[in-house]
Amino acid sequence: MKYFPLFVDEGGAMVVDVVRKFVETEIMPLRDQFDADTEHKLINDLLIKMSALGVFNVNMPEEGSDSEGPSLPMACAVIEEFARGDAGIGLVAGINSWAMAGAVYGRNREVIEAYKKRQQEKQPTFACFAMTEPASGCDVENLPEMHGKTIKTRAVQDGDSWVVNGAKRFPSNAGISSFYCVVCQTAQEKGEEGIALIYVPDNAKGLSFGKFEVKAGLQSDRNCDIFFDDVRVPLSYRASGPGEDAVILKRNVSLGRVVSAAAAVGCARGAFEECLRYTGEREVGGKPIREHSIAAGILADAITGIETARAYYLQVAYMLSHPDKFGEVHSPAMISHASAAKNQACQMANTIIGRLMELMGSYGYIRDYHVEKYWRDVKEIQLWLGGHQLAQFDVVRRYYPYKIGA
Ligand SMILES: Cc1cc2nc3c(=O)[nH]c(=O)nc-3n(C[C@H](O)[C@H](O)[C@H](O)COP(=O)(O)OP(=O)(O)OC[C@H]3O[C@@H](n4cnc5c(N)ncnc54)[C@H](O)[C@@H]3O)c2cc1C
Repeated sequence: MKYFPLFVDEGGAMVVDVVRKFVETEIMPLRDQFDADTEHKLINDLLIKMSALGVFNVNMPEEGSDSEGPSLPMACAVIEEFARGDAGIGLVAGINSWAMAGAVYGRNREVIEAYKKRQQEKQPTFACFAMTEPASGCDVENLPEMHGKTIKTRAVQDGDSWVVNGAKRFPSNAGISSFYCVVCQTAQEKGEEGIALIYVPDNAKGLSFGKFEVKAGLQSDRNCDIFFDDVRVPLSYRASGPGEDAVILKRNVSLGRVVSAAAAVGCARGAFEECLRYTGEREVGGKPIREHSIAAGILADAITGIETARAYYLQVAYMLSHPDKFGEVHSPAMISHASAAKNQACQMANTIIGRLMELMGSYGYIRDYHVEKYWRDVKEIQLWLGGHQLAQFDVVRRYYPYKIGA
């Protein structure tokens, strides 16, 4: 199912096309083997090929350049294409850019150069954005209410170093990354002013990891606990500074949610294509399943859901790339739009993939037929980044207190 991505220029559309072909030739033929690939042999080979495609760290600027890389609508369209094959593998690449966004936005040349040096030594190089903690996931992201006061990972200045102590849970790319962007608090009473995003290289003394989580889906994404025991990094490894680091955290919540919407649309599209083919071949009641109007209605609802969710996330991605017209990425209005895009796309994908499985009978539940994979993968996209409920709160609270005409 080819489509023309809105708000993506001709060059961008060509990139999307290249990724689409890569997904069809390299990822789709292997996707039912990922669950058994516990050592990530297949997955690592694919990541090396993806790295050669140039989709890793697309936001890293050259020396003397302020460019933040390709447009957000294009990046989202690329993530949708990857998720059509395997959401986890696309997100591994996307999370690199997300984790390094703090250094890029904070114009932190020292961190950018240290990361680039690592890239020269090792390809692909991964990065991780470590926000969630054992005691609190949503509360860390819920800055409008909690103001970063529940963040337990501490960063204390000691001479020319930051000393980091604490633990993070679940981050994508944990245990495989070269750099960790760690959301810390310097002093609880300072709230958002105390939030510090500290970059920790993987060879820092005192950094250790738990075992990889065993999950329902998204096998290509690695997640584990990260422990910081008196980890020392240079003062310059803070993304930006007081207040500004909280802005970067809010920006990443906003950006992460719109990209999640794209990934959910990709999952729904992958499942739809499998179901469309299957229901055209298998007959019930004397004709192919999809020729029964009740089944055609479910397929039609799937297309409508996919198309409307895509149109909305692309519009929001466009708005986020034009802060001059629509407001800053971290503003309550933009966080509201990005959260609405994620919630709508995830709700749509979770509902629709379940319905598509019904059209396939028990074959929909069997691994060889692929649809159950999208069903398992897409649930977590809804659960992360504050889940549906915190995102709902973020959608609506920009209207509190309601102002006529606002
Ligand atoms: C595969 C995977 C990838 C992940 N990737 C990352 C990553 O890259 N970086 C990272 O930092 N974390 C990551 N996470 C963690 C994920 O973002 C968090 O688990 C998620 O935000 C929810 O936090 P929690 O599980 O601690 O739930 P809790 O904070 O305990 O919340 C539980 C539930 O309470 C409800 N809730 C919470 N707060 C509110 C509120 N204010 N109003 C209404 N309802 C509320 C919601 O229903 C929520 O789902 C990942 C997790 C997985 C499994």
